[in-house]
Amino acid sequence: MKHVISIILVSFVFLPAIYGQCDRVVSSVEDPGPAQMTGGELPADVNDTDWFFPSNYTRLVSFSGTPGNKASHEGMDYVHEDTSKEHVYIHTAAAGQVVYVREGCPESSQFKHNNYNRECGAGWGNHVVVKHGSVYTRYAHLKKNSITVKVGDELYAEQIVGQMGNSGRSEVRHLHFELGTRRDMFDPCGMSQNFDYVYNPNQLNYNQRTGIDDELAEDTAKVVVCHDRHNEIIKVKMPTSHSLGQIISIELYDALGRKLEEVNDLGANRYGEQQIPYSSGSQLIICRIITEKISFSKKIVS
Ligand SMILES: [Zn+2]
Repeated sequence: MKHVISIILVSFVFLPAIYGQCDRVVSSVEDPGPAQMTGGELPADVNDTDWFFPSNYTRLVSFSGTPGNKASHEGMDYVHEDTSKEHVYIHTAAAGQVVYVREGCPESSQFKHNNYNRECGAGWGNHVVVKHGSVYTRYAHLKKNSITVKVGDELYAEQIVGQMGNSGRSEVRHLHFELGTRRDMFDPCGMSQNFDYVYNPNQLNYNQRTGIDDELAEDTAKVVVCHDRHNEIIKVKMPTSHSLGQIISIELYDALGRKLEEVNDLGANRYGEQQIPYSSGSQLIICRIITEKISFSKKIVS
């Protein structure tokens, strides 16, 4: 029996390392996380990056630590306790490359002390690490099975990486957001890995978000453009690489919120650019886009 367990363990722990091509690590193991030290000055290239808040929230809990000592709260918490919001999306705080994804951590509920495998993912629960020049960001406690990116993905700023959750060492649905540096590369096949130093994310110079109405639209300004060309064609443009899924339908609304048109017949190509012939002129205000993952509204620009 012991032998069988060893074989199973060896297969799980070492096979991914042999192949060296992990795009994520899926495990419910409670792995240990070494302490992270508080860094002093942030690397200079941080100021060359455009930073955006990674999430909506109802309450914040600040970073705490003094340079040269172990950080007592190693990141910033974005708590979202509004139970009427089923999904709270987490966005990468800047363009960058995904270097580590940990999935498989359970959670007992969204709005109470999590009772399951609290040290799963070294307490971070399901989490994603993104590299931006010489610093990294970590997005922790994500909802199980919500992560939409994998190791190697190049992300544009504010791209969705997953949904806020309560996995790992967490008392309520929240994002624990870390900013850190690390001398060694992340091993995409290894168990959870710490930063050498963590920094107060409040030191970042955040840009204003540029969205229009609902929680996702606030964050997808760079994902979708609704364009009215000479009052005759509505163009909806999505980059081919995004995490929203295929477009299912597009609806057009006037200033009073009345639906003027619903377009379901989008043909074979449901990514990229859609062109809808429509000539109701200036009364068109909002286009609502329904995708496999989410629906959201955008102001039509001419
Ligand atoms: Zn935290």
